[in-house]
Amino acid sequence: LEQHRVFISVSMGIVLRDARYANAEEILRDADIAMYRAKRHGRGRYEIFDLSMLESVLSRLELENDMRRALEQGEFLAHYQPIVDLTTRKIIGFEALVRWQHPQRGLILPAEFIPIAEEIGLIVPIGYWVLDEACRQLRDWQTAYPQDPPLTMNVNLSTRQCAEVNLLEKIVEILNKHQLSPSSLKLELTESLIVEDSQATGRMLDRLRALGIQVQIDDFGTGYSWLGYLHTLPIDTLKIDRTFINRLGPGGGQEIVQTILTLAHGLGMKVVAEGVETDDQLARLKALKCEYAQGFLIA
Ligand code: C2E
Ligand code: CA
Ligand code: CA
Repeated sequence: LEQHRVFISVSMGIVLRDARYANAEEILRDADIAMYRAKRHGRGRYEIFDLSMLESVLSRLELENDMRRALEQGEFLAHYQPIVDLTTRKIIGFEALVRWQHPQRGLILPAEFIPIAEEIGLIVPIGYWVLDEACRQLRDWQTAYPQDPPLTMNVNLSTRQCAEVNLLEKIVEILNKHQLSPSSLKLELTESLIVEDSQATGRMLDRLRALGIQVQIDDFGTGYSWLGYLHTLPIDTLKIDRTFINRLGPGGGQEIVQTILTLAHGLGMKVVAEGVETDDQLARLKALKCEYAQGFLIA
């Protein structure tokens, strides 16, 4: 091409013709499905169509369509997991975790629908719904159970939501609507989100901080090694991923937890341990001077 050498690769979808097919369009449709799978699995390769591929495409399509309706139908709900202070053993706040009550499929967990919602952009309205619902609930609890400092609410933010230009305005609007102080809200962002566009994210974090909204890093330790950025960002709290807490047994497994605690405390941050399931884990976290914990044991 204009004196330049261009290298191209080819992904192929292959269909074996059989009696099932009534016309050429159906064969091409299935070849397409197989080709997209070949691309998804790394490109420059081929896939041979089989019926399970069609089924998974159809069920995915159905899930997408259902999800578009779910918001209007009020099928999403929030579950709340308490977060406790390890020294006082008191509840300081909650994490909001979204669920989808599907009329036919039953309760669907976020792992199954959040990635799809991200892909098709629905995570943005779903995310605002969670934020609104969690703030409404928090306001109720703050009124019913006044304490000093007041109960707080953690809400998870996904990549796509953070890219919304009017995210901050919307958050402020929701806080005002429920008459909540910005300091009652804590947003959880993952490491990868912060690494991907650290400058833009850094600016957003600065604006959140200026408003008095706290920012926490979720699943800390599972993402990229980006320790270099850590001290430059306005982050208040690290949440140690539950895979590390899971390894905290009577026999050991505390090296990484201890290292993260030392790092966080050195940078003036607090630490939440998530996924605490046993009394022993709780006791060891307390001994390691971890500030907060959440998990099935407490919930
Ligand atoms: P996450 O933020 O790491 O949330 C914690 C997950 O660990 C929750 O799963 C929770 O039910 C589970 N968990 C809590 N305690 C324990 C424990 O002691 N042991 C074990 N094994 N697991 C525990 P869930 O609710 O299925 O959420 C999965 C992920 O979905 C969340 O991970 C979060 O990344 C995402 N997510 C949940 N709600 C929202 C939301 O409203 N918006 C966005 N953007 N993402 C959400
Ligand atoms: Ca979280
Ligand atoms: Ca987490």
